[in-house]
Amino acid sequence: MTHLSPPLPHPDFTAAREILFARTDYATNAAAPPIFQTSLFSFDTYEDMAAVFAGEPRLVYSRGDNPTVMEFESLTAALEGAEAGRAFSSGMAAIAAVVMAFVQAGDRVVTVRNVYGDAFKLFEKLLVPLGVRFDYIDGTDPEAVAAALPGARLLYLENPTTLTFEEQDLSALTALARQHGVITAIDNSWATPLYQQPVRHGVDLVIHAASKYLGGYSDTVAGVVVGRKELIDRINGLTYPYLGAKLSPFEAFLLTRGLRSLPLRMPLHMAGGLEIAARLAAHDDVEQVFHPGLRPGGANRSLTGFGGVFSFEVSPAIDVPRFANALRHIRLGVSWGGPESLLVPLKVAVPATPSTVPNPFSRFGISPRLIRLAVGLEPVESLWEDLSTALTAARI
Ligand SMILES: *Cc1c(COP(=O)(O)O)cnc(C)c1O
Repeated sequence: MTHLSPPLPHPDFTAAREILFARTDYATNAAAPPIFQTSLFSFDTYEDMAAVFAGEPRLVYSRGDNPTVMEFESLTAALEGAEAGRAFSSGMAAIAAVVMAFVQAGDRVVTVRNVYGDAFKLFEKLLVPLGVRFDYIDGTDPEAVAAALPGARLLYLENPTTLTFEEQDLSALTALARQHGVITAIDNSWATPLYQQPVRHGVDLVIHAASKYLGGYSDTVAGVVVGRKELIDRINGLTYPYLGAKLSPFEAFLLTRGLRSLPLRMPLHMAGGLEIAARLAAHDDVEQVFHPGLRPGGANRSLTGFGGVFSFEVSPAIDVPRFANALRHIRLGVSWGGPESLLVPLKVAVPATPSTVPNPFSRFGISPRLIRLAVGLEPVESLWEDLSTALTAARI
């Protein structure tokens, strides 16, 4: 079995639990946050209303602030060690709101190759036609990043990256970005604030697809961004109100509820993911496993633990569709972060004929034999039996 290095401490998440389980003072001493299912908040007097229009902060309309949503925003910001946060109706809405708040026509964004597929499509289909340029770099190579940064407006990161799970040296990259006056943003959905706090490594804005681990139960699509107040204020003044992709109070309630079990769920996702990844790495029909936990971490590693999502490439001896259809426990499905294990064979996403739209799956040499697995909360032995039986059944 592959050896995991370095050995990771088993954290008890004291700081996160202080935040998540602090004594609250909700209305009527409710233990759970009340759901303010209202579109608007009215004013007592003309003068009250005038004060708001003169700039006094107050609840007005739920496309702006809503107390149930604010509860989720402030918990997430606190978990990330950030000053402020803003929630959105999806992870993609959060990504779009961040990028579009900081770039204009003529600006250039530097981003990691193998960035999340729909972020890539946002960049290429919507923002390139508006005159924004994107450079896709190997984030594991600080020299390549240093060469791309001069003149750029935004450095958009993932750590690890999507599908290939490449790890970057966040502190080194943010130091370079600061030298060149470039704002940094990262999608931290995979590691969660429990296993990586990018703000502590100099990242300006931290984004989550809260649909994944933060929510944790596969029942909500949502996004959130946290960071310095000044930067969140810019988003609040530009993209948040006018793109209009606000989060609903009920979904914010579900997310706050989900956050409270994050410290219980993540160690199971992490341990299950590492165990299955190591067993796959030792399997004859598996050529490569892409999981940061199976690689030695550098001295500057910012990950203090691992999400349960990784990928592996099966050998040509495996018929991928037959493998997928032979699974009895693990489901085929997109998304991840909930209790159920989910598998995506990349073969289904790679178009048979070259398309005119840039395709993230063919661009960076990703094999059609690559398979992404999101390890849920089921017993590892059930998952392993399912995978090993399906691999045997799929041998050509
Ligand atoms: C799912 C996902 C997103 C997008 O989130 P949605 O809520 O589906 O819009 C962004 N980044 C990563 C890494 C994701 O897995």
